[in-house]
Amino acid sequence: MKLPVPEYIQKISPYVPGKPIEELEREYGISDSIKLASNENPLGPSPKALEALKTTLGSLNRYPDGSGFHLVRTIADTLKIPGEAIVLGNGSDDIIALLAKVFLAPGDEAILPTPSFLMYEISVRACGGAPVFVPLKSLSIDLEAMLDAVTSRTRMLFLCNPNNPTGAVIHRERFAEFLERLPTEMIVVIDEAYIEFVRDPDCLQGLAFVDSSPPVVVLRTFSKLYGLAGLRVGYGVMAPALAGFIHRVRQPFNVNTVAQAAAAAALSDAEFVEKTLDLVHKGLDDLYDALDRMGFKYFPTQSNFFMIDVERSADEVFEAMLRQGVIVRSMRSYGFPSYIRINAGLPGENRRFISALASVCNRSQAAPQGK
Ligand SMILES: *Cc1c(COP(=O)(O)O)cnc(C)c1O
Repeated sequence: MKLPVPEYIQKISPYVPGKPIEELEREYGISDSIKLASNENPLGPSPKALEALKTTLGSLNRYPDGSGFHLVRTIADTLKIPGEAIVLGNGSDDIIALLAKVFLAPGDEAILPTPSFLMYEISVRACGGAPVFVPLKSLSIDLEAMLDAVTSRTRMLFLCNPNNPTGAVIHRERFAEFLERLPTEMIVVIDEAYIEFVRDPDCLQGLAFVDSSPPVVVLRTFSKLYGLAGLRVGYGVMAPALAGFIHRVRQPFNVNTVAQAAAAAALSDAEFVEKTLDLVHKGLDDLYDALDRMGFKYFPTQSNFFMIDVERSADEVFEAMLRQGVIVRSMRSYGFPSYIRINAGLPGENRRFISALASVCNRSQAAPQGK
C-alpha cells in the first residue's frame, strides 16, 4: 500500500531508546537487573519533588496552568533571567522539535555534530529540513568544520555541551570567537542537558550568550540531575522575541500539572542536587580506577556518562551484559563499533558493572603486571 507520507518523513529512522528494565527482565526471565544505559539519576527522583507532586493530585480534573507560572518564576529566579526568556517543554525533546518547526522551512539547512544526540536529526527531518552533518574531531565538536559547513540556506546549528555520547565540552573562549564568525540570520542551539555535571572551569555556559547575534537558545532538562526523566520537563532559554514564536506553535498544555509542581520543587532541592553530584563524580572516579586496573581505554567525561573501548563487538558485549542483568548502551549505531556507553550508578551498581564487564571480556580486576 502506498501511503501519502512525504519523502522526508519516510527518511526518518526511529529513535532507539535504552531498554526499560521491565522489558529486559521479561525477555530474559531475570530480576534485580541494573540500568546504566540512559544517563538517568541513580538516586531516584528528588524527595522534595515527590512531596510537591502529591499536593497536585486532587486538582487533576483541571487543565494545567498553560503558562507554567510558578515553574517559570522558579527557574527565572534561580538562573537570574527574565521569565519571558523561558519556554517550558514536555522534556527538552519537545523544545528541540518546536525550534525546528519554527525556524526551518522545507529545504532549509541545520548543521549538526555527529555522533551526537539523535533527536536533532529527527526533528530537523520532521520539518523537511536538511541536516548537514559535521563529524566530531578527537571526539569533540569541531567548530571550525561547522563554520565551513555554513551556506546561504543555513538556519540552525546545534551544539551539545557536554556532547552525548562522548562527554566532551566546548570551551567558552573558543565559542565566543566561533559565534562572531557565524552569519547573524540563523539560530544557535546549545543543548545543556548535562551542564550541571561539568567539572571543567573553562566550559562554555550558554546562558551568557542568549542575547548575542546570531541568537543563542539554551536547552536544559529535569531528566538527568533532578531525577525526573519519567515526568518529562525541560525548557529553553532564549530572547523573548524568539520565545514568542515558540509559544505560538507549542501545545497550550505541553507540561502537565504534576510535572510543573515536581520540577519547581526539584530545582529548589539543593541537598538532592549536591548528593547527586557527589555520587556521580565519585562514581566516575571509582569506575575510571577500576577500568585502569583492568587495562581498558575510555574517554574521561564532563558529564554523568562516558564511553569505554571494549576492544570487541560492542553489540556482543551489550548482549552478554544483558544476560547478567546489566543494561549498557552499545555505541555501534553512533559509529563506535567497539565502544559501550554507561552512566555512573550507585556504588553497588558500579561494582556489579565492573565484575560483569570483567567476566564478559575475560579481564582480571587486579592491576596488570608492571603497573
Ligand atoms: C537526555 C538528553 C536530553 C533530555 O531530554 P528530555 O526530553 O528533557 O528528557 C536532551 N539532550 C540530550 C543530549 C540528552 O542526552
